Amino acid sequence: MSQETIFTKIINREIPANIIYEDENTLAFEDINPQAPFHVLIIPKIAIPTINHINDDNAHLVGNLYVVAAKLAKEHNFSDDGYRVVMNCNDHGGQTVYHIHLHMLAGKQMGWPPY
Ligand code: C5P
Repeated sequence: MSQETIFTKIINREIPANIIYEDENTLAFEDINPQAPFHVLIIPKIAIPTINHINDDNAHLVGNLYVVAAKLAKEHNFSDDGYRVVMNCNDHGGQTVYHIHLHMLAGKQMGWPPY
C-alpha cells in the first residue's frame, strides 16, 4: 500500500507550500486553510499514516515534531502566551490527510472543548 499523500509531494517540492522550517527528519509549513493567525503543520519526512502506526522504532520522529513546535514557539514569540498542538486520528478525530501532522495553532485565545 502506498503511503504517499499530498504531504509527500510537499516534501518533494512537487507542489508548493510555504515552508517555514526544515531539518533532516522534519518539515513545517503553513496550513493552506488557517484556523488561527499562526497555523502550521509539522510533519515527519517519513510517512506515518496515523497515530495508530506510531511504534518504538519511529517514536523519535514523533518526538521531534514537539521539539520543532517548541522551537517555532520561541522563534515566533508564542512561548509565554501559549499555543495549541493537536494531532487528529482517523475519521472521528477529523483526520483528512493520512500522513501524521502536528497542527500548531497560535496567536489567539483557544477554546475548549475543541468542537
Ligand atoms: O488533521 P487533518 O488531516 O484534518 O488536517 C489536514 C490539514 O492539511 C488541513 O488543516 C488542511 O488545511 C491542510 N492542508 C494543507 N495543504 C494541502 C492540503 C491540506 O495545508 N495541500
